[in-house]
Amino acid sequence: MQEYQVYGRTVILAASACESARLMLNSKSQRYPNGIGNSSGVVGKYLHDSTGADMGGILPQLFDRKRYNEDGVGGMHVYTPWWLDAKKDKLDFPRGYHIEYGGGFDMPLYGFNWGIEQLNGSYKVKGKQKEAGGYGASLKEDYRFFFGASIGMAGRGEGIAREDSYCEIDPDVVDKYGIPVLRFHTQWSDYEIKQAKHMKETFKEILTNMGAVITWGDDDGEHNNWGLHNPGNIIHEAGTVRMGSDPKRSALNKYSQSHDVKNLFCVDGGQFVSQADKNITWTILALSMRASEYIVDQMKKNNI
Ligand SMILES: Cc1cc2nc3c(=O)[nH]c(=O)nc-3n(C[C@H](O)[C@H](O)[C@H](O)COP(=O)(O)OP(=O)(O)OC[C@H]3O[C@@H](n4cnc5c(N)ncnc54)[C@H](O)[C@@H]3O)c2cc1C
Repeated sequence: MQEYQVYGRTVILAASACESARLMLNSKSQRYPNGIGNSSGVVGKYLHDSTGADMGGILPQLFDRKRYNEDGVGGMHVYTPWWLDAKKDKLDFPRGYHIEYGGGFDMPLYGFNWGIEQLNGSYKVKGKQKEAGGYGASLKEDYRFFFGASIGMAGRGEGIAREDSYCEIDPDVVDKYGIPVLRFHTQWSDYEIKQAKHMKETFKEILTNMGAVITWGDDDGEHNNWGLHNPGNIIHEAGTVRMGSDPKRSALNKYSQSHDVKNLFCVDGGQFVSQADKNITWTILALSMRASEYIVDQMKKNNI
């Protein structure tokens, strides 16, 4: 391995929540025995992801319908923001979730309309009852008949950032460069599990009322946390280098600047205290833009 030393007036970490925490935790010295910028001890802690649970089905009333451009069905144009209030609506979990939708005449790709090739065994195609599956012209006719009649609903919500959900340096494992890797300690609490239950009940109510036949996601229950995806699955990891005004309880100030080391910044998902029920990326961009403007200003004033 070739080692380099690079000098700069500021160091800006943007390596993603876990990798930035790993860089900081691995950067130990006499001055920073817990890792650079970690006098608070919070680096690596409060790791959290969005919650997620899903359900979907088919809408028989949409079989064999006229073709037109439905680009934009789904995330582009259809979205349900969180509509309840935990206190006012007496919910048994805090925070909330939004709903994303899929379906329509989107570009067919691998796995599109899961199970479409079996629908001909369950529903008549143009009045004819066929066997499931098939091949050739007959199967092509069936695909055209069923295409565009599926619907999927995905809940994405706010998980609670907790101190006991964290990553830390693994004392035994290194990567191919000999640098210690992270190990993870994460689990959901009752809050997120109850939120997933609420998602499932809501999806079922909406799908049933719109006349859908639910074909997946309806067999989840207490036995599997209501289909709640494992922490990390929604890939919105955040919180490991949290910001805050109290240097004892946070690693960064509101400008994403380390409380301990004034020319160290972290502008990725690590800086989040919580990520609400919204997907995370726009806020990462907004925070990093704020930090950038601050850095320019501070450099001009020779403060860093
Ligand atoms: C499949 C997928 C779908 C997603 N969909 C959405 C969505 O629809 N909406 C949404 O808001 N979010 C979505 N996300 C989440 C979003 O992409 C991430 O939350 C966001 O990109 C995180 O930004 P970041 O700056 O923290 O890290 P990243 O975007 O991961 O950037 C980190 C960068 O640092 C580099 N890097 C890492 N380690 C080092 C190192 N040691 N040295 C130098 N460079 C390094 C990486 O190569 C990378 O370029 C999705 C994520 C995935 C994986």
